[in-house]
Amino acid sequence: MSDSQTNMQGEAQSLEHYWMPFTANRQFKSKPRLLAEAQGMYYKDTKGRSVLDGTAGLWCCNAGHGRKEISQAVSKQIHQMDYAPSFQMGHPLAFELAERLAQISPEGLNKVFFTNSGSESVDSALKIAINYHRARGESTRTRFIGRELGYHGVGFGGISVGGIGGNRKTFSQQLLPGVDHLPHTLDMQGNAFSRGMPKTGAEKADVLEQLVALHGAENIAAVIVEPMSGSAGVILPPEGYLQRLREITKKYGILLIFDEVITGFGRVGDAFASQRWGVTPDMITTAKALNNGAIPMGAVLIDDAIYDASMQGPDGIELFHGYTYSGHPVAAAAAIASLDIYQNEQLFERSRELEGYFEEAVHSLKGLPNIIDIRNIGLVGGIQFSPSEEGVGKRGFGIFEHCFANGTLVRATADIIAISPPLIIDKQQIDQIVNTLGDAIRAVG
Ligand code: PLP
Repeated sequence: MSDSQTNMQGEAQSLEHYWMPFTANRQFKSKPRLLAEAQGMYYKDTKGRSVLDGTAGLWCCNAGHGRKEISQAVSKQIHQMDYAPSFQMGHPLAFELAERLAQISPEGLNKVFFTNSGSESVDSALKIAINYHRARGESTRTRFIGRELGYHGVGFGGISVGGIGGNRKTFSQQLLPGVDHLPHTLDMQGNAFSRGMPKTGAEKADVLEQLVALHGAENIAAVIVEPMSGSAGVILPPEGYLQRLREITKKYGILLIFDEVITGFGRVGDAFASQRWGVTPDMITTAKALNNGAIPMGAVLIDDAIYDASMQGPDGIELFHGYTYSGHPVAAAAAIASLDIYQNEQLFERSRELEGYFEEAVHSLKGLPNIIDIRNIGLVGGIQFSPSEEGVGKRGFGIFEHCFANGTLVRATADIIAISPPLIIDKQQIDQIVNTLGDAIRAVG
């Protein structure tokens, strides 16, 4: 097994010390894929090969790479003030960014709590939900309802409300108590190869009524779902499903949290999926494209009513929660610059404009070997394969490797390939991704 690689300067570099996240470490280190530069739609690997970015990094870089506006804002801010304490102190940029986010968020979600990642946004939202109910004298409301196949990051809160078996099993005795799950909305029988939102399955939201009957509304703090599941392989909500969830949560005084860490900032053709589908939750969790992936940062967008109710107690700290780097000035500078780019270049709108072309392109793969479903919305597509005889995930990984070897980055989750390019992509680059994918699918079989 080779555990060294040549770095950009041509020197041998050891790979043995870094324990890589969500990575087959031994496999990777025997055959490394190392990226060294990024500009526009392209990465360059350490061998100087160009790689078309079909995944916006990891659903982060919606404005593409190497944006001067962002690096200049970061550079200016780090010179002016590198860090300011976040507890009992503030700095203007965090307030400015909160205001900017309130301007693009769904109506009523005008308060912002800053974090450093999607996982932290999720755990923060769960805590804010419990704190809100306590502040209103409903302290029995502590249970959460997540959904099968949901991904909400890797904190203990996130894996508890999450519904991906592999992320939970090792830690099964340490998961939060008092969590139940709705059924997932993937219906390969009824909805395979749907374009946009699947037509059937809204009634799956009605299972919430059963969970309320089982646990008692007075014990349930919040329901958390991704409006569209990204990590589990691009699983869309059936038409009317999110509306049903909203109606039922409202009826029982349960908060609804949309985890928009992936869908936020234009991915599905609006600032947030909430706006695309006309359903306003009580909180939205975000991260990733918030600052184009430039500096770790996340945020929870919160309804005024939650904030106001939480400000009613004795004067003092209202929420015993926060991070050293909440609203970090350099991350905030990157976020403001990113929001400027999104607005100036109308990238959320561009995602919707290109949706039709992108849809045709990804669905043109139908009929290639082993494809059992294709799903899409905005600038995200999922292509699902039957597992090979070698085991679950082998075919997906083979296709991912083949694409990378041929200059295109896609993402494999088990036997699903997800494509989610930067929103600056053009039609020719969409074709390039789909053509490389087609070749890979034929080659891997
Ligand atoms: N929530 C969702 C919906 C995500 O897709 C992710 C990451 O992909 C997270 C939370 C966790 O984000 P992070 O990896 O920044 O902690």
